[in-house]
Amino acid sequence: MKRVMVTGGAGFLGSHLCERLLAGGNEVLCVDNFYTGAKRNIAHLMANPYFELIRHDVTFPLYVEVDEIYNLACPASPIHYQFDPVQTLKTNVHGAINMLGLAKRTKAKIFQASTSEVYGDPEIHPQPEGYWGRVNPIGIRSCYDEGKRCAETLFSDYHRQHGLRIKIARIFNTYGPRMHPNDGRVVSNFIVQALNGEDLTIYGEGHQTRSFCYVDDLIEGFVRLMNTADEVTGPINLGNPGEFTMRQLAERVLELTGSASRIVFRPLPEDDPQQRQPDITQAKSVLDWRPTIMLDQGLEKTIQYFDELLKEAKVG
Ligand code: NAD
Ligand code: UDP
Repeated sequence: MKRVMVTGGAGFLGSHLCERLLAGGNEVLCVDNFYTGAKRNIAHLMANPYFELIRHDVTFPLYVEVDEIYNLACPASPIHYQFDPVQTLKTNVHGAINMLGLAKRTKAKIFQASTSEVYGDPEIHPQPEGYWGRVNPIGIRSCYDEGKRCAETLFSDYHRQHGLRIKIARIFNTYGPRMHPNDGRVVSNFIVQALNGEDLTIYGEGHQTRSFCYVDDLIEGFVRLMNTADEVTGPINLGNPGEFTMRQLAERVLELTGSASRIVFRPLPEDDPQQRQPDITQAKSVLDWRPTIMLDQGLEKTIQYFDELLKEAKVG
């Protein structure tokens, strides 16, 4: 049995990963400071004797014995990571240094949840891993984008300098049950707005694109990447190449919820990337991975989750 640590394990992606690792016969140590995560995301795992929770901020050192580390700790939605940008940078940089130090001492294999944001507002479309990106170093998204870029550098240097076994995944927009209902991300926003009969807020004219991956597909990619041979370090793009404008997404959500909500337009946030689509050639060849859940199917599952959550909140 492997002892696997998941930082950010009480968050959206982290909680699905903990579940998946337990189902795979591992012992799981979930580390989280509950900055954006929630106990309800992992409440169903608490009774499992192979699951353990530590409240800890990864910007401080941690001394535990583990075989593998998935480093997911970091607020992921723009409103959350921009709320305290200095803390976002500390989580990305000091957090990476602490977790890499832990991996070095325990000789653990370590996975980094990087992001398509390292490509910034890209001039190359779709984005392959070899593209170095176009990122504003001093804008409101920089605490996240540059923090994640610096973490990739740290991982690469610990690999070159200390021989650490590293795995870097560049994750493109992912959605599904357990997203935070108020984190401002587009999928959760549109679904919650549609279910509450409120206006759907499109930022800008809604021509900007994103490619949305359903959470189960992504987690499968994480585990496959972690299980690759030591020579495979990444970065490897993980995402669903199906690309949609925000207008198209709003229309799909309205149709699938049957909501009578209207679409309204709001100012486009600063440095909002115009287009984003993963080139997943590497994931296909190295991991034999590709997404299997198409947008409508994933949206239906996510709508069902938020519908139940909102009903519970009303009853509560
Ligand atoms: P999330 O906000 O739901 O989860 C992040 C978790 O990290 C939360 O539980 C939070 O409490 C915890 N955390 C934050 N700062 C911490 C700290 N200093 N110490 C300990 N725990 C801390 O976000 P998510 O969508 O689950 O994202 C998980 C990871 O995946 C993040 O690193 C994010 O950057 C990356 N990612 C996500 C997406 C996506 O579309 N969901 C895309 C690209 C990258
Ligand atoms: N967006 C939108 N309406 C919303 C929330 C977001 O039109 O209510 C847009 C946002 O401007 C961006 C896209 O949706 O162009 C994706 O935003 P999100 O915050 O989900 O992810 P990111 O910008 O980090 O990819």
